[in-house]
Order: sequence, then structure tokens, then C-alpha cells
Amino acid sequence: MRILMLASEAVPLAKTGGLADVAGTLPVELARLGHEVQLALPRYASIDPQVSSLRQAATVAVPFRGDSVEVGIETGALGNKAGSLVCIRYDPFFSRTGLYGEEGRDYPDNLERFVLFCRAVLEACRQPKRPPDVLHAHDWQTALAVAYLKTLYRDDPAWEKTRVLFTIHNMGYQGRFPVTDYPATGLPWSEYTPERLEFYGQVNLLKGGLVYADLLNTVSPTYAREIQTVEFGHGLEGVLQTLSGKKACKTALQREMKLPARNVPLLGLVSRLAFQKGIDLIVEILPKLLELDVQMVALGSGEPAYHQRLTDLSTRYPGKLAVRLAFDEGLAHRIEAGADLSLMPSRYEPCGLNQLYSLRYGTVPVVRKTGGLADTVVPYLSAGGKGNKATGFAFETPQPEVLLSTILLALRVYRDKEEWQALMRRGMKQDFSWQRSAKQYVELYERARAV
Ligand code: ADP
Repeated sequence: MRILMLASEAVPLAKTGGLADVAGTLPVELARLGHEVQLALPRYASIDPQVSSLRQAATVAVPFRGDSVEVGIETGALGNKAGSLVCIRYDPFFSRTGLYGEEGRDYPDNLERFVLFCRAVLEACRQPKRPPDVLHAHDWQTALAVAYLKTLYRDDPAWEKTRVLFTIHNMGYQGRFPVTDYPATGLPWSEYTPERLEFYGQVNLLKGGLVYADLLNTVSPTYAREIQTVEFGHGLEGVLQTLSGKKACKTALQREMKLPARNVPLLGLVSRLAFQKGIDLIVEILPKLLELDVQMVALGSGEPAYHQRLTDLSTRYPGKLAVRLAFDEGLAHRIEAGADLSLMPSRYEPCGLNQLYSLRYGTVPVVRKTGGLADTVVPYLSAGGKGNKATGFAFETPQPEVLLSTILLALRVYRDKEEWQALMRRGMKQDFSWQRSAKQYVELYERARAV
């Protein structure tokens, strides 16, 4: 693999704590394992250029504060040339006595310093023909690189294939800055929301790392559990708990619907039971689907023939299919929250709401590619399989066997925990809020008034 690692310190060049040990040693060991590793660091004054045979290689113009800043790129070697080192040289920011501050006080321009560093790394390490497979960022200082990759550089083909791992070394240091500093990040205000970089009225860079990364880890399994609690989460435990919330909702739903609390894929259906919704396709495949080690919860009301068929099937597959023939708003939400997958094989769908709720709840939708469903779910296969921008699964031909094979594909992906969590996370990050719709309606009203 090609790995681009970003850190604010690394042994033997610059060190204030354990982060430096990890960021200095890991790249060398990865390189010894045969991977191509590049480590990016700020060029602090304290770095001895001889240690890594650092030399000026280029300059690059970095977008900064609505202008552009010329920074130096110095390159060198890591651990006996196992890996390579890239230093971002901008003396007004990094040629100082400390790394983050002096005499116990943080530098007041730390946000700008690491904005420039992160942005410069993405500009300097941009190699369209040899993009990194993984960008590995550590702690708040490099979290913005993650945010940039997923926003400003999202459509840059040079970074399209790069996936991001973000490592939390210490939740106690989050890189929080006043909202008045936000414009310095160069990110649009649409990213300054409680789901993203805003945190109780401040900019929180560590949070950015958590929410934009494809995958998160921390430096010990116990710490990974601890930071999901109030005591150790430093206010960010809620952001981290989201995925473990799925497990709690699933167990609660299984209990409520009297299904065994087993760790098997749980499919959800919340729908009017009408031909339009493709319910005939579902009842047709259920006997085959329920032979597998899966569970399903169905909530709906409508055509009596479907009531009968679903009731029969639930008697035939007790402990696997639970049916509630009713209109129940609360249960609808509990299904959206607790299921792993939701089915929406509509023949046509003007907009469709359940797939949007599903995405928000981290429940991966399986939909027919029509109407609003086609507009809101990015299908796994057409997006190129593993590691893509997909948020769900979709099929075209409204036939039972096509629906079944799409569900089977989803169940295969489900077994790959990391891939599945990536699907969940991407879905949860989509913005289909009413706020957005309301703005679009305001535009229509304006147009109507102008007629
Ligand atoms: P449609 O308007 O065609 O029925 P949508 O997906 O646009 O389809 O909206 C359906 C709405 O009705 C969603 O909010 C969904 O959760 C809800 N819903 C459908 N069936 C039930 C049910 N049996 N109990 C509770 N809510 C339901």
C-alpha cells in the first residue's frame, strides 16, 4: 500500500509526547513490511536537517485565507531510507521555540498554523498517478486534512481513491477555537454544524477528524471503550457512540418484536402494503430469504392479501419474521433505528422518506432504482464495489429474483464489518434535512413571486 501519514511530531525529529513515538516509528516499520510510506511533518526550527538528510525540494503555492502562501517542501529519508519524509517549511509559523506553545501557553495562531500545514500536505503530496491508498492522520493537529479531503478535495481525482484512518491519541486535547477563527479553515459554513465541526459554539478540530474519517482507532482497546463514556469522552462521547447505539437499538427491537437477540442481519420493512411498494416482490422471496440466518421485522397496513401472506409467513418462520399489521409511528422509528438493512423495492416512488430515515439511522437501504430512491441512495455496485461512495444497494428490474440477489449481495457485504460500517457512516453523513428542502422551497416561492 501507499500510505501518507500526517503528524505534528515524530521521533527523532520533534517530540513532546507519545504521539511522536508512534508517528516516528510506525512509518519505518510499515516500510519494512514492504509498504510505501511518506511521513509529513511541519518543519520546526528544532528539526536537525542532517538527521533525515532533509533538503529543499520544491515550493508550492497553498491556498490560505483567500489568498495563497508559498511554502517550502523539504524531503528526506526515514529510518535508513525505509520511508520518505516530507516537511512543510513556513518559518513564520513553524520556526519557533515550541511545537504548540511556549511557557505553558498555546500559540494564539495554532489554528492557522495547522490549517496551513494540512492544506500544504495535500497540495504538496498530490500525485495524480500515484495516489496514496491511505491517509493516516493523528490527533487534532492533522484532523483538518481529513476534513479537507472529504470536502474541498472530494471531487479531485487525485484523492478519489484515498481512504482515511484517523487515530485518537488523547481526547483531552481537541483543538478548540472560537467561531470567529472558523473562516481561517477555508471550509464553507455548511461544514460548521453540530454533525461536523461545530461543538457547543466553537470550532472543534478533533471532532472533524472523528466525523470525516472513514475509520477511527485509538491507541489501546480499553481507551477505545473508555472514550465512549462521559468520564473519558471529554464531551465527544456522543459522537463516538453512534455506531454502538445501533447494537442497543437492534437488541431492543428484537426484544420488542419477540425475536431471539442474536447477532444476525436484521432486515426492516416499514411501508404501506401496496403493489406500488413492491410488497409482492418481498413476499415472493421471503421463503427463500428466511431459510438463511437472518431476521426480519415488517410493519405496515394495506391490501388484505399481503396481510394474510405476511401473517402466514410469520407463523411458518417464528423467531425469524415478526410482523405488525398496523400504523405505528413509534415502532416505525424503532425499526428504522434497530434494523441493519431496510427494504424499499418500490415500483415507483415520487420521493420516498423511509430510505432517508434509514440513511440517517445507519440502516443500509436496499431500494429499487426509481424516482426519489434513485436520487438519494448511491448503489454499491454502480459506485464500483468495495471502498467507494456507496450508501446502499439498488436494483432495476422489478422481479423477485433480482431483489433477492441484491439482498444477498448486501448480506455478503454485511459480513465485512469495516466495509459495512463505512456504508453506515457514509449514509449517516448525508444531508437530506428539511432545512435544506425548506431553502429550496423558498427559492421556488421567490420565483413564483417574480412571475
Ligand atoms: P408514501 O407517502 O408513498 O407512503 P413515503 O416513504 O414517502 O411513502 O412516506 C411514508 C411515511 O409513512 C414514512 O414516514 C413512513 O415511516 C410512514 N409509514 C408507512 N407505513 C407505516 C406504518 N405502518 N406505521 C407507521 N408509519 C408508517
